[in-house]
Amino acid sequence: MKKHIVVLPGDGIGPEVVAQTLKVLRAVETKFGVSFTFEEALMGGAAIDATGSPLPEATVAACKKADAVLLGAVGGPKWDNLPNAKRPEAGLLGIRKELNLYANLRPATVFPELASLSCLRPDLVQNGIDILVVRELTGDVYFGQPAGEEVRDGKRCAFNNMIYYEDEVRRIARVGFAAAMARGKRLCSVDKCNVLVVGRLWRSIVEEVHKEFPQVELSHMYVDNCAMQLILNPAQFDVIVTGNIFGDILSDEAAAVAGSLGMLPSASLSGTAADGGIGLYEPVHGSAPDIAGQDKANPLATILSAALMLRMSFGLNDAATAVETAVRNVLKAGYRTGDIMKDGGTLIGCTKAGDLVVEALLK
Ligand code: NAD
Repeated sequence: MKKHIVVLPGDGIGPEVVAQTLKVLRAVETKFGVSFTFEEALMGGAAIDATGSPLPEATVAACKKADAVLLGAVGGPKWDNLPNAKRPEAGLLGIRKELNLYANLRPATVFPELASLSCLRPDLVQNGIDILVVRELTGDVYFGQPAGEEVRDGKRCAFNNMIYYEDEVRRIARVGFAAAMARGKRLCSVDKCNVLVVGRLWRSIVEEVHKEFPQVELSHMYVDNCAMQLILNPAQFDVIVTGNIFGDILSDEAAAVAGSLGMLPSASLSGTAADGGIGLYEPVHGSAPDIAGQDKANPLATILSAALMLRMSFGLNDAATAVETAVRNVLKAGYRTGDIMKDGGTLIGCTKAGDLVVEALLK
């Protein structure tokens, strides 16, 4: 297998965490007999400095030809005073739009070794948690028309429109089912169909798509109950699929359950690999200017994003699991970057963390 990966290191700690991740992907090549080509391109502040634009056309063209894209992080104080459209973050929004990335995947994993970082009681997380939230990203009440503010009966009012088309629900449901197939084969679809007609359409389409994935066990949950269950019994979930606004809230809640920003990977997809969709993989955290250039950043979120890439874009489930196990073994051995150093252990820097994951992977 040969895959072409476009790499966007970005700003701040972005290049540092991406460099460690590329070491890990090279080790995956050695261990699993696959072959990757890497093409570096500019985005964010680095692109503004070099070209005047946060998302140069050459970067968009390169990403469109890639099998997958790996991103570090963008932004920093140097560019904070630019107008919104010219800021590094505009590059992020731009690439999501250019690649039609309508599905956002956020795993929330509590490694038992890091259970103390979770905001939950130890007995709820001591055996670890491994949830994947699949959120629809381009529809729902955030984008539905009409939306606006006006005066009715002499009173100011404002309105948004919660609307989903059946094809929008069908494609995100497929991403949810495909993700469940690559993991524990359980999908929980979250809606509010006891109150919202949108929820009724959502549920009926998800049930239709289920027929394409009969091996996956499907359940449904109302969003208010899901918010509660994520706190009461997070270990019950494998994959959650939901709409844009519910996913916005639930994915942040799941992240708080997991605990540390430096450990959270993410993926944005334009469809399943089987449908020819492309994926952009990035850590949830930003460019952390406060620790940039000091070899202090935790590269594990980006390394775990690469594991997601192996699983979701390349179908390399064994390699993905091997990378995740290598990360876990480094934590088990007591090594910690500063951000996850709560209960003691051996303090390491970004480069050492990358080296240790490679070593654990090749063992
Ligand atoms: P941030 O995520 O960069 O940092 C928040 C805090 O977490 C900081 O104290 C930082 O040191 C720490 N931190 C984050 N990632 C870490 C890691 N891997 N290892 C160790 N510690 C880590 O968020 P912020 O400070 O609000 O934003 C900084 C810049 O990043 C801003 O310009 C913002 O716009 C940008 N940003 C970019 C993205 C992205 O590229 N996807 C996301 C969020 C913020």
